[in-house]
Order: sequence, then C-alpha cells, then structure tokens
Amino acid sequence: MSTITPDALVLETIERVCRSEIAKYQTEQFYNTVPRPLFKAFSDAGLAGLSVPESHGGIAASAKTCAAAFERISRYDLGPAIFLSVHAMVCGLISRFGSNEQKESLLPRLASGELLGAFALTEPGAGSDAQSLTTEAAIVSGGFSLKGNKCYITSAGFADLYVVFARTSDAAGAGISAFLVPASTKGMSIGSPEKKMGCELSPIASLFFDGAVIPTSALLGPLNQGFRVALSGLAGGRINIAACANGVASAALDAAVRHIKERKQFGKALSEFQGLQFMVADMHSRLEAARLLTDKAAQDLDSPSASVSSTRLSSSVAKCFATDAAMSIATDAVQLLGGAGYIKEYLVERYMREAKMLQIVEGANQIQRMIIARDILEAP
Ligand SMILES: Cc1cc2nc3c(=O)[nH]c(=O)nc-3n(C[C@H](O)[C@H](O)[C@H](O)COP(=O)(O)OP(=O)(O)OC[C@H]3O[C@@H](n4cnc5c(N)ncnc54)[C@H](O)[C@@H]3O)c2cc1C
Repeated sequence: MSTITPDALVLETIERVCRSEIAKYQTEQFYNTVPRPLFKAFSDAGLAGLSVPESHGGIAASAKTCAAAFERISRYDLGPAIFLSVHAMVCGLISRFGSNEQKESLLPRLASGELLGAFALTEPGAGSDAQSLTTEAAIVSGGFSLKGNKCYITSAGFADLYVVFARTSDAAGAGISAFLVPASTKGMSIGSPEKKMGCELSPIASLFFDGAVIPTSALLGPLNQGFRVALSGLAGGRINIAACANGVASAALDAAVRHIKERKQFGKALSEFQGLQFMVADMHSRLEAARLLTDKAAQDLDSPSASVSSTRLSSSVAKCFATDAAMSIATDAVQLLGGAGYIKEYLVERYMREAKMLQIVEGANQIQRMIIARDILEAP
C-alpha cells in the first residue's frame, strides 16, 4: 500500500504538470495571455480546486500545501503561479463568504477549470490606498449598476468571473461591497493587456464599467463589508506571493551555484573564491529564513486558534521578507553569472524581473511595513 500523503501527491502532480507543460508556453506567442490549455492541464490535475472544499469538487489544500505548490510552480515560471494563486484567492473568497447558491453554482466550475477567477480591487486612483476606491455600485431595480475603472487586474480579458470591489456607501472602509461579475456582463469592457517588465505568462489589463447591471444575487458577503472580504483574500494571497518569491529565489540560487562551479577564471572555478562563497552563503541563508517565515504564516492561517491580527502580521512579515529576499538573491545571481547573467538564455535576468513584481503586488512592501509597524506599535 502506498504511504504517500495527500500533500505529497499534490506536489508530485504539480511537478509533473510543470515539467511536461510550462515550457511549451514560454514563447512570445503566449506572452500576456493566460494560455487556456495550460490552465486546463493544471485543472485536469485538480489544481484549480486547491482552495475549494471537497464537498464542491476541490481538494481543500491547507495554506501550507498551497504555499508549497506555488513555490514549485514559480521555480518553472512565475506567470502560471500568479494566475493560479489569484484564481485560488477567488475560490477561497467564495468558499468563505458565498451564499449556498453561489457556492453550488460556481465552486464546482471553478474547481474543474471551466471558469477562471480574477480579483479586481486596484483602480487608477486607488492602489496602496485601496479603501479610497471610487468605482460605484448604485442600487437599481433588481440589483446594482457598476460605474468606474479597475487597472492592473491579473487575468483580465481571460477570466470568466471577476470579484469586483465597489463603493455602495460614502463611509470610507465600511462603504465597499464585493460582487461576483461574469465576464459576459453587458456594460463591462476590458482594455488591452499591459506590456510589462516580466511575468509574461500572467496578463494584466484594465476593466471599465459603464452602467454594467448585475443582479442582487451577485453580492458576495454582506453589503458594505467588501473591504473585510478583500483583506481576507489578501491574507492568504500574501502567503502565496511569499511562496512564489521563494520559488523564484531558489531557481536563481540554483542557477548561480551551477554556474560558479562550472565557470573557471584565474585558473580555478569561480566557486573557489571566498568572496563569491560568502555571497552564496548569504543567498542561501536569506532563502531559508524566507521559507521559515512563509511556513509560519501558512501555519497561522491553517490554525483555527490563530487570531485575525496574528495572521495579518505573519502574512505581511512573510510577504515583505520573502519578496525582498528574492529580489536580493536574484540580483546577486545576475552578478554571479557576470555577462551571462545579463543574457536572457541564462534565465537569471528573468528571475530578477519576476522578483521585482513580487515586491509590488498584493500590497507593496512599504505597505507591508506599515501593517507590521502598526501591529507592533499598537499591541497592548
Ligand atoms: C503584475 C501586477 C499584477 C497585479 N494584479 C492585480 C490584481 O489581480 N488585482 C488587483 O486588484 N490589483 C493588482 N495589481 C495592482 C497592485 O496590487 C498595485 O499595483 C499595488 O497595490 C500598488 O498600488 P499602485 O500601483 O497604485 O502604487 P501606489 O499606491 O501609487 O504606490 C507607489 C509607491 O509608493 C509607496 N507608497 C504608497 N503609499 C505609501 C505610504 N503611505 N507610505 C510609504 N510608501 C507608500 C508604495 O509602496 C509604492 O512603492 C497588480 C499589479 C501588478 C504590477
């Protein structure tokens, strides 16, 4: 009888899908798209249902398993890890805040990969200060009418279902509600994919709402409680971003170690120079610390006894530390490869571009530091 645990099975499956599928899509033809066959390959292996309860067709993976999953995928390419982690965030929000009808009609389709989910919070005038968003959801007969713009939305134009945050009252944080908006909604349109620095296999674009009418049943969670919904998604999302950073950092470190062991200068391998050995030691130590913090944050999220504030603190600490570590490790990897580090074929320049994105998304690292400092300074 096999002794393999369900978590190990998930990771083994991910490794197999990444190894056989991702390389096919790492070409310009697929840049700034979500390649649907790639999403299908992950979905067929059960991975679109990572954050969906078993009762609704998913595999209900723990935060720890999700983090391990996203670290694995990011070692191959950050793009699919990002669109899958946003999809997982949407699944988690519907599982936690959805009505029975929303769960029954949407979760099995999200888990099977029939639907791809996206999360639309950021606006041109409201990024770090997301509570100042101005997209409006006015009450109309039978539902709400959406007016406003979102920007930088992962999978926009490729997703089938958007969680859209919009203002339903003038009260600052308390005036926001979350809505489930299908891509086919009349009055909603999507901009062209942005041309960005990296993470080519995960597109971003703007959403425009011009009187898009959605039914009352589209409300996700209670009216005017949408910011709480957003923060709940971001707590898990930040752990997954930390995990993605660890994947990018470990790929960069491996590439650098391989290179300095092979490359000879001054009659010996670069790895024999103590100056470079010390760089490798620091890179490894940073990565190990980042993994431990990510693990701690995932354990907190999985623990039924952890408080909201301790979960918020540990996920911000993990996100901030791991993504800064990934940026530093990827930058050092480029340096260790010398001229080759600057050439695309050697991949480390890609890891550097990917790490930069991770310092910005799901709350830029200055915002994580604000959250951490506030939690420490306001603690009794
Ligand atoms: C590739 C990519 C994918 C994304 N995907 C999504 C998505 O799926 N859904 C979504 O809703 N959004 C998404 N975003 C948006 C992302 O979450 C925002 O870009 C991010 O929150 C920062 O907001 P901003 O770009 O408006 O920067 P700004 O808020 O303008 O901040 C600019 C800089 O100022 C700093 N700053 C801001 N306020 C303070 C302060 N009070 N003190 C100190 N420093 C401060 C920030 O940290 C940042 O470094 C994505 C962005 C990118 C690049």
